[in-house]
Amino acid sequence: MYKVISSIKIRAMLKINLPPGSLPPNAEKLRSEVRDFLAKHLSDYSSAARAKSWAGSDPAFSELLGQQGWIGMTWPSKYGGAERSALERYVVLEEMLAAGAPVAAHWIADRQSGPLLLNFGTEKQRQKILPAICRGHSYFCIGMSEPNSGSDLASIRTKGVKTKNGWQINGSKLWTSKAHIAHYMIALVRTAPPNPKNRHAGLSQFIIDMKRPGITIRPIRNIAGDDMFNEVFFEDLVVPNDMLVGREGEGWSQVTAELALERSGPERYLSSYQLLYELVSELSINPKERNAIGVGRLVAHLATLRQMSMAVAVILEDGRSPELEAAFVKEAGVAFEQGIPSVAHDLVGRSILLGAGNFDQVMAYVTQAARSFSLRGGTREIVRGIIARGLGLR
Ligand SMILES: Cc1cc2nc3c(=O)[nH]c(=O)nc-3n(C[C@H](O)[C@H](O)[C@H](O)COP(=O)(O)OP(=O)(O)OC[C@H]3O[C@@H](n4cnc5c(N)ncnc54)[C@H](O)[C@@H]3O)c2cc1C
Repeated sequence: MYKVISSIKIRAMLKINLPPGSLPPNAEKLRSEVRDFLAKHLSDYSSAARAKSWAGSDPAFSELLGQQGWIGMTWPSKYGGAERSALERYVVLEEMLAAGAPVAAHWIADRQSGPLLLNFGTEKQRQKILPAICRGHSYFCIGMSEPNSGSDLASIRTKGVKTKNGWQINGSKLWTSKAHIAHYMIALVRTAPPNPKNRHAGLSQFIIDMKRPGITIRPIRNIAGDDMFNEVFFEDLVVPNDMLVGREGEGWSQVTAELALERSGPERYLSSYQLLYELVSELSINPKERNAIGVGRLVAHLATLRQMSMAVAVILEDGRSPELEAAFVKEAGVAFEQGIPSVAHDLVGRSILLGAGNFDQVMAYVTQAARSFSLRGGTREIVRGIIARGLGLR
């Protein structure tokens, strides 16, 4: 019996393919350019601000990145993209995250809304929207979760009804990151009544211009004091017909592809990087072998995750969907980044959260923010379920 179970598990694990690799020379050359850029433009950026990682935003900084050609980097030049490789994009993301650069304004548009439009959008939608994203002028938010519909996304109740003027939308979205600064939302909406035989049918995606009448945005302050996400209400909002993304009723498969992009990047293991940096500085004041071992463990873990995450970028480069691999790296990455505060607490070994130094400030922030890391982009249980299904174990 044991042998049978083991062989099933081994065969299942073989479905995850994350071969180690190295970055091509052009990507490493780009790394020094990005580092010089960051040293110049973020020279007076505080540790506390860097600790916000990819949740911190600054429209002027997004515009500067647009000028560098570092937003929409892999997209066709006819839409404003730079036609560079997924691995070059990986280097830019990695350096931005390591520096704690304020990238949140354009992050969602660059990571998933733009690619969604490249995959499923109309030519008119692409021409209208993608160049402004690449310039760092157009930001997106994700309208998936609703009250009582988070993990069970197929149960959403926001409704779209076809009228002679377009789609009339009523309902609400919840936990919508950066909706208060976004120009557009990609919203998942029920456009046909629920079908008990196929829960994923009857859902459609729309591009919603956040300036249209019928939209109310209410901020929700998180535990760390950030106005990061929002509730968004739609009351008789009218969305023009040409703002439907892809095909009516096929929103579920589009959303699944989008979620693979949402889970695939280095932001899923580098969110606590500033704390690791400050921890090393703090421990360097009075070096001890025990601390070196603790930090060594973290760095070895980080290096392994980096290899796995880069392998996901290779899958994207090859034009394949990284659904299973991205879920796997997200789960392992989130466990790592969420665990750094308790390792730091153990190694520093004094009362923390009360001091005014860089380490204390960053520790206080990351300890609180880390709670959310295993919720955003799909909870731990849901992501583990996806991995189990992908491996044929469920
Ligand atoms: C920082 C942050 C930013 C976010 N930004 C966005 C955004 O921009 N746009 C957006 O649409 N959403 C966003 N979300 C929402 C996020 O996607 C949801 O919080 C998440 O999907 C969980 O949904 P929920 O909060 O309704 O919790 P629930 O789905 O109610 O889950 C509660 C608990 O039950 C567990 N659970 C639920 N179902 C199962 C199951 N079948 N099996 C086992 N366990 C289960 C979950 O794992 C979780 O632990 C954000 C969340 C956070 C924390």
